[in-house]
Amino acid sequence: MEESILSHNPQVQSFGLKNEALQRRLLAWYDRHARRLPWRAPPGRPADPYRVWLSEIMLQQTTVAAVVPYFAAFLSRWPRLEDLAAASLEEVLTAWAGLGYYARARNLHKCARVLVEEHEGRFPQTEAELRKLPGIGPYTAAAIAAIAFDQPAAPVDGNWERVVARLFAIRTPLPSAKPTLKSAGQSLVPQQRPGDFAQAVMDLGATICLPGRPKCLLCPVTDFCTAQQLDIAALLPAREPKAKKPTRRGIAFWITDPKGRLLLRRRPERGLLGGMMEVPSTAWREDKWSEAEALSQAPLAADWSPLPGHVRHTFTHFHLELALWAGRAEGRIPDGRWVTLEGLSDEALPSVMRKVITHALKHSG
Ligand code: SF4
Repeated sequence: MEESILSHNPQVQSFGLKNEALQRRLLAWYDRHARRLPWRAPPGRPADPYRVWLSEIMLQQTTVAAVVPYFAAFLSRWPRLEDLAAASLEEVLTAWAGLGYYARARNLHKCARVLVEEHEGRFPQTEAELRKLPGIGPYTAAAIAAIAFDQPAAPVDGNWERVVARLFAIRTPLPSAKPTLKSAGQSLVPQQRPGDFAQAVMDLGATICLPGRPKCLLCPVTDFCTAQQLDIAALLPAREPKAKKPTRRGIAFWITDPKGRLLLRRRPERGLLGGMMEVPSTAWREDKWSEAEALSQAPLAADWSPLPGHVRHTFTHFHLELALWAGRAEGRIPDGRWVTLEGLSDEALPSVMRKVITHALKHSG
């Protein structure tokens, strides 16, 4: 399959001869310019699979800057895989709160337990075996295999795709180009130091081969770059036009009791923000809510007062616009998790719910 994809791209075919020189150049650059990241071993030194795995799961869909404090907090609280496996899911979700994409945290926890219970606390070393673990997809398996175990794997993420599209001047737009970029990326991987090579491409994409404005004058592999020679580097990778994100709407119920505590509830385990805590709300949908419909989804009957403004948040596939209604629980207090305002920091609240709380505290007087 890979052969046939590559054989349709003459630039990829002709590139093979130059690979060794490119690999040497990029590794020499990495030895001097590797980013210092808290989960990374110095070039040429073995990496700790636990740190590599934890950082790679955290880095999915998120920036290095956002991950650094979470990585430090996780490592100080759970320094070894066994410690993380022994934690409760709720502790892990609470520590993850604010990092987003919470299915990752649930799978992280599940994966730690599987490794401890079924693999004697050790990570398997091949991409194929790693992919059988919870939360480890093709990219993460390749990243762990390469970085932690020096396997010749190509962890093709956005940085890799950009670098490879430019080196080979692959003009097919993303996402259709993904299989070609993966194959072309794999064709670059050396047998010697593949882990450092994987990280070198990541660093090149993050610091030099930037989206829109590549710094080709500083690039260690400019002699090998077809897009630079054709003066089309800034245009690659091409992308198919994105579908517009829909906006979903809902009403969140800000409910306090006579002691000033707030009613929270846990979201279902499966689905968006699964297992996280939330300020109760109606379902989120594109149609506007009538008052009667919203009332039918309120967790209790109360004298509701709408708060001014909306809370807006963007998820991967939609924008969310939440109105807030404030109400008091009087008489019989319904079941649920009643939390003092001081206790909110101990709850597994996703970013959107932190926004709801900040908004409500500002406007509810
Ligand atoms: Fe990227 Fe420019 Fe280097 Fe090509 S020469 S890999 S476009 S930075």
